[in-house]
Parts: sequence; C-alpha cells; structure tokens
Amino acid sequence: MAIIEVQDLKKEYRLSKTTVIPALRGISFKVEPGEFVAIMGPSGSGKSTLMHILGCLDKPTSGAYLLEGQDISRLGDNELARLRNRRIGFVFQNFNLLARNTALENVELPLIYSDHRAPRDLALKALIKVGLKDRLYHRPNELSIGQQQRVAIARALVTDPAIILADEPTGNLDTRSSEEVLFLIQELNREGRTIVMVTHEKDVAQHAKRLIRIKDGQIVSDEPIKDRLDASKILDSLGKGGIPFENI
Ligand code: ADP
Repeated sequence: MAIIEVQDLKKEYRLSKTTVIPALRGISFKVEPGEFVAIMGPSGSGKSTLMHILGCLDKPTSGAYLLEGQDISRLGDNELARLRNRRIGFVFQNFNLLARNTALENVELPLIYSDHRAPRDLALKALIKVGLKDRLYHRPNELSIGQQQRVAIARALVTDPAIILADEPTGNLDTRSSEEVLFLIQELNREGRTIVMVTHEKDVAQHAKRLIRIKDGQIVSDEPIKDRLDASKILDSLGKGGIPFENI
C-alpha cells in the first residue's frame, strides 16, 4: 500500500466573489514506503499549498488524499490532528522551536501531546541520534542554526512517524550545515523512513531518489534521480569534523 496517494488534487484560494487563485490544478501521484521524493518548482508553483495538504494542515478544494490508505476528507478536525501528530514528522525552514525551552523540552513536546509514557527517554534518544547529546539543555539561541535544525529533525523523529515532510529544510543554512541536514535526512531514509522534501534548489533536490517538478499548480515531470548526491561524500570533501549521526 502506498503511504501517500493523491488523486487529481485541486486547491483554490478565493480572494473575493470574482477572484479565485488556482494554486493546485489537478495533482496526482503515489509515494511508496521508503521513498525519498523531492518536490521542486519555482516560487508560486504551489509547493507550500501541496505540503500543507500532505501534512493534513489544510484540505484540498477537490480530489482525494489517502494517507496510509485512509481518506483524510472523511476525518474531522480532531481525528486529523491526531493522525498528523502520530504519523507525520515536520521539518520546516524556520525550525519553529520554542525559544524559552531547551532542546530536550522542544523534542519532548510532540510526545506530551500524544500521551507517551516516557517522553524524556525518547527525546533523549532522538537528540543523541542527531548528534546533539552534549547540547540537551541548550536553548535555541544558544545553538548554531545548523544545530537548531537538527533539534527540529529530532522533534520530527521522536513520534516515530510514517513519513517526514521537510519544507525547504536547508533554506536558512550555510553550505556545511545544509549538507549535515541532508546527510541526516539521507540516513533516515536509509533506515527506511519515507521522506517528502520541498525545495527550489536543484542541488538540494538531487539528494533525493525521485524528483517531482511542479509548475503553475501542475506536475510537469516525475522521474527517478540518476545523478544522486551523497551528503556523506560531500561532507568528507568539506573536511570532516564528525558526522552528526549516531546509530542507536
Ligand atoms: P510556492 O510554495 O511554490 O511558492 P504556494 O503554494 O505558496 O507556492 O502558492 C501557490 C499560489 O497560491 C500562488 O499564486 C500564491 O500567491 C497563492 N496562495 C498561496 N496561499 C494563499 C492564500 N492563503 N491565499 C491566497 N492565495 C494564496
């Protein structure tokens, strides 16, 4: 069964009685378990709109979205929130970390919402995994931006989601930090996690295994990536300094 299946998705934003913006104009694709898909397109092509729908943060105007076979249009807001919290991990461009909370508290947060028994242990494991075991009690402003994004990745992972949605995850990062984040994402995919990543940069997209290009709310191509980039090799060439990932 596909993890994600969208069929003829359309999304219109109604600005007034007479003005409607068609942000998505019939998008169909499937994502199988273990895939790593990049979605690329110019600004205004509908990437964020699509990501919001895939993340169950918004509903399409028409068309179907099946998440692990479940038709999300049939779910109420509470059920949708529960599904989102349990099955989807988000990594955003701006990290969205709580400024007054430590790394550990930020990563614990999704677990507290979903009633887990040992949130602290799981949060600790997730932070160790992204190479931040000596930064557990730091607040976001005491971390580099690359480290902040790694906290955000730990937070996305901690609920053991079926799918990780990354929206321009390297958008605010320098070259090395970008590559570290892409390395983590590639490792998570190697472990079998399904990843969908939006980007407008070709060299970021090339870290994925499949590329869907969209333009004006429609898919213009959907192909496997042949000249795939390996973040660990790029990090090697940038000079080591410890790869930020621990297998636990
Ligand atoms: P991208 O993420 O590729 O830049 P978006 O999904 O943000 O594209 O936008 C697609 C189109 O929908 C654009 O024309 C944008 O102006 C419009 N749009 C996006 N969000 C809204 C909104 N909340 N209200 C009205 N129009 C919107």
